[in-house]
Amino acid sequence: MAVLTVNCPSCRRPVEWTEASPYRPFCSLRCKQQDFCDWANERHIVPGDAEEDDFFSESDVPGRPQ
Ligand SMILES: [Zn+2]
Repeated sequence: MAVLTVNCPSCRRPVEWTEASPYRPFCSLRCKQQDFCDWANERHIVPGDAEEDDFFSESDVPGRPQ
């Protein structure tokens, strides 16, 4: 019977929905982790608080904007 394939949510490559693809619907562990990273980042992003250097200057910037 036909093998069901899905597209990897991360890189869009076709992935066979079989036991040969342990990370399905992702094509690989890397894509699975990548997707989780994107998801986690989206959850962390707060509008108006996207300054990347905030991480390095948290202790000596009094009254920094939210
Ligand atoms: Zn992939």
